[in-house]
Amino acid sequence: MAIDKLISTIQSYNPGANIDLITKAFDFAREAHLGQKRLSGELFITHPLSVAQILANYKLDSTSIVVGLLHDVIEDTPVTYGEMVKNFGKEIADLVEGITKVSNIKLQGSSDEIYVENLRKMILAMSKDLRVVLVKLADRYHNLQTASILPKERRIKIAQSTLDIYAPLAERLGMGEMKGNLEDLAFPYVYPAEYKWLTEYSRPYFRKAEEFLDKATKFVYKKLAEENITGKVTSRSKHLYSLWEKLNRPEIDKDITKVYDLVAMRVLVNNIRDCYAVLGIIHSSWKPVPAIGVRDFIAIPKPNGYRSIHTTVFSFKERITEVQIRTFEMHEEAENGVAAHWYYSEKKSSGISDTNLNSGTFAPLEKMNWVKQLVSWQKEIVDSTEFMESLKFDGLAHRIFVFSPKGDVYDLPFGATPIDFAYAVHTRLGNQAIGAKANGKMVSLDHKLKSGDLVEIIKKEGERPKKDWLQFIVTRLAKREINKHFREK
Ligand code: MN
Repeated sequence: MAIDKLISTIQSYNPGANIDLITKAFDFAREAHLGQKRLSGELFITHPLSVAQILANYKLDSTSIVVGLLHDVIEDTPVTYGEMVKNFGKEIADLVEGITKVSNIKLQGSSDEIYVENLRKMILAMSKDLRVVLVKLADRYHNLQTASILPKERRIKIAQSTLDIYAPLAERLGMGEMKGNLEDLAFPYVYPAEYKWLTEYSRPYFRKAEEFLDKATKFVYKKLAEENITGKVTSRSKHLYSLWEKLNRPEIDKDITKVYDLVAMRVLVNNIRDCYAVLGIIHSSWKPVPAIGVRDFIAIPKPNGYRSIHTTVFSFKERITEVQIRTFEMHEEAENGVAAHWYYSEKKSSGISDTNLNSGTFAPLEKMNWVKQLVSWQKEIVDSTEFMESLKFDGLAHRIFVFSPKGDVYDLPFGATPIDFAYAVHTRLGNQAIGAKANGKMVSLDHKLKSGDLVEIIKKEGERPKKDWLQFIVTRLAKREINKHFREK
């Protein structure tokens, strides 16, 4: 079992990677999992190694890779959190523990309420550090790739929770490629008959569309050359599960000839100006289809940050075709989402380097990105009923996430006030609160907090809770603590 391939992948994008630490983590994990085997009969260490490889393909930092290698150590071996701290430091130990917590949350609740509650816990555990999510997604990805060996019931359970939780999560993080792959892996386990039907039904249509796109691609290349625009023209075939979802829409009604983006053309160029130039070139040759027309996600990005111009046109022989136009950087972001942002923002700031990440100078930025994601997520959940139906996250619409000055996330019900927040942090902080700031500005103690607020409590030693707080607080915890205080008196 060698890690040569992993190391060469890492060195190709991060020459300053901490290879000693990565090697140490691999040896540690191999030792810890010694004697354990996967159901396939392979040594267990092949799993964390594959997870680390997936993370390296996303060009993630050394810490993420190390955590990928160690992610099952606390859960599946006698190694403790304390030993992890001793060997790898608190940051890595905390990340591994975060993943263990996420894995232990059972999403099959006996009621919707418990389900949503558990889901919240999971998101909360993940929101402490984005890397917990990325490692968890890579873990799920590899488990699905190797799921055929599992007992049927377990396989279905894993696949179902992938469709319910992990794929939507990847989508929210803008990781389109990960989302599509997770769904396609889960699809045959959850809907075997439908999967079989769709593969057979769609095959000739895919073939025909691909042949057609080959011709159209040559034509567009010629046009680009005439206008002196350098770019790359490719095509992408729709992921099967996403095709299945589209076929189930009432306006499509299982008629694949109404799916115009079965195979879409993709034009990648160097800058935004060229994107619009390409749009002009396309429209001067092929007329846009009325009513579907152009969607400009560069001017107005999707909530998950997706940017691209989509236009649906009558191309050769009036065949309806979708063309997607974007820059190379937008393309990278559309495929890899937050993971790509990570790499790019780092490269831009001071060249990719681990010292940058490990010294903590990078941490606030990375945390802020995740905060933004959470906040826009919340917004979308409130705004879009379609999103709510497609996910089981509706319980979250009635919750807000606020942050302590240290960056810790607190999950509170809608309408929560600084007093609710203070009691959520610590009873004493609640009891001694005399004032509060939200995002640096003084607010009243009955102020209704919003998702994404950074809340600071001003306290005074020896202060006592006020009875009128009971008029506006919304959490049971705050109510209980305040009442307890007055009973004791
Ligand atoms: Mn695992």
